[in-house]
Amino acid sequence: MNRGKDHTEPTKRAYKYRFFPTNEQARILAHTFGCVRFVYNWALHTRSIAYNERGKKLSYNDLSAMLPALKEQFPWLKDVSSVPVQQSLRHLDTAFKNFFEGRVKYPTFKKKQHAQSATYASNAFTWDGTSLTLAKMETPLDIHLHRAFPQNSKPSSVTISKDGAGRYFVCILVEEDIAPLPVVNKMVGLDLGLKSMVILSTGEAVGNPRFLHQDEKKLAKAQRRHAKKKKGSQNRNKARVKVARVHARITDCRRDYQHKLSTRIVRENQVICIESLAVKNMVKNHSLAKSISDVGWGEFVRQLEYKAKWYGRTLVKIDRWYPSSKTCYSCKYVLEELDLQVRSWVCPQCHTVHDRDTNAAKNILAGGLSVSACGGGVRPVRAQARRATPSEAGNAQL
Ligand SMILES: [Zn+2]
Repeated sequence: MNRGKDHTEPTKRAYKYRFFPTNEQARILAHTFGCVRFVYNWALHTRSIAYNERGKKLSYNDLSAMLPALKEQFPWLKDVSSVPVQQSLRHLDTAFKNFFEGRVKYPTFKKKQHAQSATYASNAFTWDGTSLTLAKMETPLDIHLHRAFPQNSKPSSVTISKDGAGRYFVCILVEEDIAPLPVVNKMVGLDLGLKSMVILSTGEAVGNPRFLHQDEKKLAKAQRRHAKKKKGSQNRNKARVKVARVHARITDCRRDYQHKLSTRIVRENQVICIESLAVKNMVKNHSLAKSISDVGWGEFVRQLEYKAKWYGRTLVKIDRWYPSSKTCYSCKYVLEELDLQVRSWVCPQCHTVHDRDTNAAKNILAGGLSVSACGGGVRPVRAQARRATPSEAGNAQL
């Protein structure tokens, strides 16, 4: 397997834009979203029942074979493009795969009030280089191109979504040749902080996870208002949209911030060492777990992962729990205990003064490099070391 070195290999890249549907397009999309949701929920229900009552595992193919009969039973399913409906079975299949591999919880039913989406494969849209027309639609979508779409690229699939705030987005997937960045002579270890989002082994702390504090206050206020309105009333619905708008703003800001940071770290460093989310999640501390999800570590790591791949950088993920905060970076002395409140400490053996977070990030860098060296040079490697058990993690300190 030497594919990692062939950087001219095309990479899938997504371009997401906002668009403004005509009334007719909005009507078709609403109908399509409804059908996609219906089929997804039907398949989830069918699969769960088959397993719970008969111990039978239904595959994508099994469910796909049942689809024509379902369409006979509910003829309105035939009014929309069959492609996104079919794709929803694929999405469910992926959701189950992620569940069985321990990455997510058991799939849940899709709700009308939540964000909606529909995926069109290349046989269900036309793209003429500038405009996009979906199956069953007469006119192209009015897309707001805030950044240029790569010329001569052929989209392989298109996902249309509508968020809780009522905004429409199109996500266009293309295959692209991405040139690796010039090699740089820098390496970094990253740790997740509580006061700062990320701590670098250089001592730099970036991003205050509370930078959304103002918006969070606004969100809480909007939520309180929503709860007070009478169920089923127009005013309640208006309040719900308001909550969704604040949510959307928070998500956008966070995503934007994470993108800037992950791009910068990948540009500046040849090797980036981190602890995997599985390791982070082992720390059974509720408030800490909340902070981890608040700062969106999982999404941040995902961005680092694909950007490192694009630009020819090495991301080393440490899969094994290691007392990175409690170990002295200089002499490897391990403290018995280090309370979460303690921000700095002095090593009893070599008397080095440590900033808690920087010391941890330095240990992560050293740990990652040793893993990388064992794996044979600069190439993406995963640590294959023994996984920590929850009992070990119970004593863990971040
Ligand atoms: Zn020491």
